[in-house]
Amino acid sequence: MIYDVLIVGAGHGGAQAAVALRQHGYLGTVALAGNETELPYERPPLSKEYLSGKKPFERILIRPADYWAGRSISLLPGRHVVAVDPDARTVAVQDGPSIGYATLVWAAGGVARRLSCPGHDLAGVHTLRSRGDVDRMVRELNSSGRVVIVGGGYIGLEAAAVLAELRKQVTVLEAQDRVLARVAGEPLSRFFEAEHRAHGVEVRLGAAVVGLEGRNGHVSGVRLGDGELLRADMVLVGIGIAPAVAPLLDAGAKGGNGVTIDEKCRTSLPGVYAVGDCALQSNRFADGAAIRIESVQNANDQAAVVAREIIGTPAEQQTVPLFWSHQYDLRLQTVGLSGGSDDVVVRGDPSTRSFSLIYLRQGRVIALDCVNMMRDYVQGRALVAAGLRCDRAALADTGVVLKTLADRQI
Ligand code: FAD
Repeated sequence: MIYDVLIVGAGHGGAQAAVALRQHGYLGTVALAGNETELPYERPPLSKEYLSGKKPFERILIRPADYWAGRSISLLPGRHVVAVDPDARTVAVQDGPSIGYATLVWAAGGVARRLSCPGHDLAGVHTLRSRGDVDRMVRELNSSGRVVIVGGGYIGLEAAAVLAELRKQVTVLEAQDRVLARVAGEPLSRFFEAEHRAHGVEVRLGAAVVGLEGRNGHVSGVRLGDGELLRADMVLVGIGIAPAVAPLLDAGAKGGNGVTIDEKCRTSLPGVYAVGDCALQSNRFADGAAIRIESVQNANDQAAVVAREIIGTPAEQQTVPLFWSHQYDLRLQTVGLSGGSDDVVVRGDPSTRSFSLIYLRQGRVIALDCVNMMRDYVQGRALVAAGLRCDRAALADTGVVLKTLADRQI
């Protein structure tokens, strides 16, 4: 079968590309091929409401089950693409016939990284990227009183919050000297460390895992660099992803830690676009550096750009990056990219559990992390979009409404 547009990866970016094509009136044939067997679903709830059981699977579908056929989008589940032939314009599928395309959209996301130490493959050691991953964890939770989470990033911390609320004894191991070190400033790290400890989670910083120990093939403990053994019935590894781009790079596409795309999301292969977690793109909010952004908004925005390119009505892209995380009753909302900041202003009092961090680079606002602070999140977007140079004292003063600063820039 040959499709006018073949999308590989039926997650956020892939699904949105198909949706956007039809929304813009595209009449060609569109197929959405993915290696999972489910209908396209939202990934953020996996470490939040789906893990906790508050939302059943049907409520995290990206579109209702009958949407796809109704829009003449061919869903091809269970297709794992292993190679791309850009000359023949075909993709090879593991254990299945190859599929032809006129235009290929690569939206394969990433694969959760695993530990490489002894014991990494014992039963009871999990990663959290797909519905199947969560279902496997949930099946074991009844018999797992002690859970050790390796990695203090957003996914590890969100899972820690859910598991603590499920009354598990949870330990978070972070190799660095603070949680969220890769993505947020120190005041936010310290705030979340304190919150987790207050909820009974043990947070260990500077903790190196050297091995996992088992009994009868099932994990029973985590060995640390200083020799200590932590008992564990379950281990969750949340140490990031590796972008799923091997078939594209093998076919000659430029890239490395992701596949390189230009501002129109084109890879270096003819007729091949890429979007989402797997795509490496120069970003003006990162001072032009080529980065991968792992967020729903980025995947959706890039998918919208590709759809507009395909139908021939190009659109501006690169809106301000947005992200969110939910832990306990805390709603964190992020605007912009804080990496590369040289100053952080704390706006409000973290002990009230409602505050914002405003990140500056050379006096200009580049990002905000807003905890239970919707107003700053909404109003801060304009400051980041414009890269405004603002008075530090005014930013810190909660009596000053952020949107008024746009008129008072220094
Ligand atoms: P995905 O949604 O991962 O979709 C890729 C799809 O391609 C997958 O179904 C994958 O199985 C499939 N695939 C991979 N390789 C192949 C292949 N060779 N052939 C066929 N199919 C393939 N972002 C936020 O903004 N806020 C959040 O709160 C948030 N929470 C998250 C919580 C969790 C647990 C996870 C895992 C992610 C979270 N994210 C969050 C990140 C967000 O989900 C991702 O940025 C987003 O899903 C990226 O979309 P994507 O289309 O690039 O990849």
